[in-house]
Amino acid sequence: MKQKNKNQILAIFIMAGILLAITAMLVVFFSLQLSAEEADSGEHLSHVIAENCQSLNALEWQATALRQIEPATMEIIEEQRTVIDESLADLIQLYPDETKLSTMQLDFEKYKEATDEEFELIDAGRMPEAMVIDEETVDPLFDRLVDMAAETSIAIHEKAESSSRTSYYLISLTGLLTAIVTGLLLLLYTHTQQRNRQIGIEKAVLASSEEHFRSMAQSANEAIITINEQGRVTYWNSSAINMFGYKEDEALDQAVLFIMPERFRESHLAAMKRLTTTGEKTIIGKTVEFAGLRKDGSEFPIELSISRWQAQQGTFFTAIIHDISVRKQVEKQIASQSKALEQRTLQLSALFEVGLTISGTIELQRLLDHALATIVRSGVLQLQHIGGILLENENRLTLVSYIGHSEAFLALHQNIGMGECLCGLALETGEILVTEDSDCDDRHTIRYPGMKPHGHVIVPLKSMDKVVGVLYLYTVPGTRVDDEKKKLFATIGGQLGVAIENARLFEKTKELSLQDPLTGLANRSFMNIELRKTFAMARRTKRPLSLIMLDLDHFKKYNDTYGHPAGDKLLVDIAVIIASIMRETDMVVRYGGEEFLIILPETDSSSAVQIAERIRTTIMQTGLLYAGNDQPSHITVSQGVATYDQTMKIDDEDRIIVMAGEALYHAKDSGRNRVEVYGRNK
Ligand code: GH3
Ligand code: MG
Ligand code: MG
Repeated sequence: MKQKNKNQILAIFIMAGILLAITAMLVVFFSLQLSAEEADSGEHLSHVIAENCQSLNALEWQATALRQIEPATMEIIEEQRTVIDESLADLIQLYPDETKLSTMQLDFEKYKEATDEEFELIDAGRMPEAMVIDEETVDPLFDRLVDMAAETSIAIHEKAESSSRTSYYLISLTGLLTAIVTGLLLLLYTHTQQRNRQIGIEKAVLASSEEHFRSMAQSANEAIITINEQGRVTYWNSSAINMFGYKEDEALDQAVLFIMPERFRESHLAAMKRLTTTGEKTIIGKTVEFAGLRKDGSEFPIELSISRWQAQQGTFFTAIIHDISVRKQVEKQIASQSKALEQRTLQLSALFEVGLTISGTIELQRLLDHALATIVRSGVLQLQHIGGILLENENRLTLVSYIGHSEAFLALHQNIGMGECLCGLALETGEILVTEDSDCDDRHTIRYPGMKPHGHVIVPLKSMDKVVGVLYLYTVPGTRVDDEKKKLFATIGGQLGVAIENARLFEKTKELSLQDPLTGLANRSFMNIELRKTFAMARRTKRPLSLIMLDLDHFKKYNDTYGHPAGDKLLVDIAVIIASIMRETDMVVRYGGEEFLIILPETDSSSAVQIAERIRTTIMQTGLLYAGNDQPSHITVSQGVATYDQTMKIDDEDRIIVMAGEALYHAKDSGRNRVEVYGRNK
């Protein structure tokens, strides 16, 4: 618009310039014309004066020669005089500055007077006097007049010529100047036109790119918002309307703070201030996560990238805003899923570890100890390093494995009845029990000195729906146990219950296969294993090892007297007596019907004899009562002792038994109720 005005003004100037130049040229031209005409008429008048002067002179000469003046001649003279007067007057009017003209006028007056005087003298016949005037006054005046007329004519001609030259130069100069000025103006006009066209093209390109930007910005999924240096909104696209809930007219020219949650506003203002004062641009050109505030007051997460740009009106900031609510939700979901997955993995790995531990051993105690340690160690729960396993025996629980307990605790928890405290309840109900805080749980009845706040998970250990034991674990107070974890503990409880049952069964089987069913002592199979171990140990450590072979005296008779069952009873009693005398490291074996073998590691011959004597005297002195017989029956035993000799070879463990047998035989042979040592009375 402004450019258009400029163009119009320039065009007007160009027109005015051209008009001025033409006017100037015309003025010069016409003034030239005028001066030319002036010069022409001046010259003409000069000629008229000169010619009339000649003519007057001729008439005067004629009158002088004729010595009279004819009235007709006088008339002509008068006419010519009038012509000269008028011509002179006209000339003076044309050239008022020409001094010669006034001189001519004066001279002509004088000439007229002189000729008149001459004519009067001629008329009076006073010729000589007339001739004097003629010669002295009229003729010189005539000559001067003619000369002056000629000079005037020449002067006028020259003047006219010089004026015409000047005019010519002026016209040329004006023409040239007009051409130059017009050319310059045209050049300027063309340049301006070109510039205008360029500006027009640029404007069109700008308008089209702006249109392009607007259509792109309007159709963009992202909110696009522009603010000026004062932080006021200057652009607000349709996605911004949808995202924030403010219409364009509600948003435009507002301080951008209205789409920010309260807590970000101060830092935004500070950042804007820093940006404008120090030029520090913390978030320009970066993508950052923020929160946006909708018109309805709700907040939502956004991703924001800001660019800064410069325009004639100042600095602007354009933000492209992406609503990342869905992404955040998905991220949250993934995080919680991965947490759940992690938990699940942890649970599965705990289960796997417990399973591995359980399958790793069949021996009950080791099984319980290892399983407990594995469970307490696992990261499934916030477990404390405290816990234990109680096994069921005739509706009571016995503590068999534990971790991290004080003496005070152990004293109170060795044996727990059905329904007593949480463990007794788990035994009774077969349910997993959870308490977040034992102090606030009435079911937690057993309390002990130094008891610290704790939570519990109590797991019944089940085999075929029968509770075979209870696992109790200590948790950090307030630990919640969800159904998922309860399921896990139920699985562990099942695994462990079955394992306990299996271990017990194994022990039973083991006992059955290695024990003598009547006396409960080791049988010969067991003895073979033990003796081999003990013998090898003695050989390796070069330590002593002794054997006692014991046989009841006249047992056949006893059987015959009191009956076979009484004989069995006697065998059991004898076994108890022998076992009571033995050390834990010794082994008592029912070797045959009424024969016992005692393995004594770390025992030399004399110690073995002492032990054998103690057995002999104890049995002999013990009053034994038998079914159907109120009287104690004193029975005796004979024993043979053999001791390992360092010269024996690896396979000689059988030989040592033979040696003991030989000593026993010797004892029998020597009268019974005695102890004999192999090799002594040979
Ligand atoms: P001694 O050894 O003093 O020479 O006389 P003895 O009567 O003990 O003789 P012997 O060793 O030959 O007899 C063994 C008897 O022990 C035979 C058998 O009736 C009896 N006996 C063996 N095994 C058992 C058992 O398991 N129960 C009972 N009641 N008797 C048994
Ligand atoms: Mg015998
Ligand atoms: Mg016997």
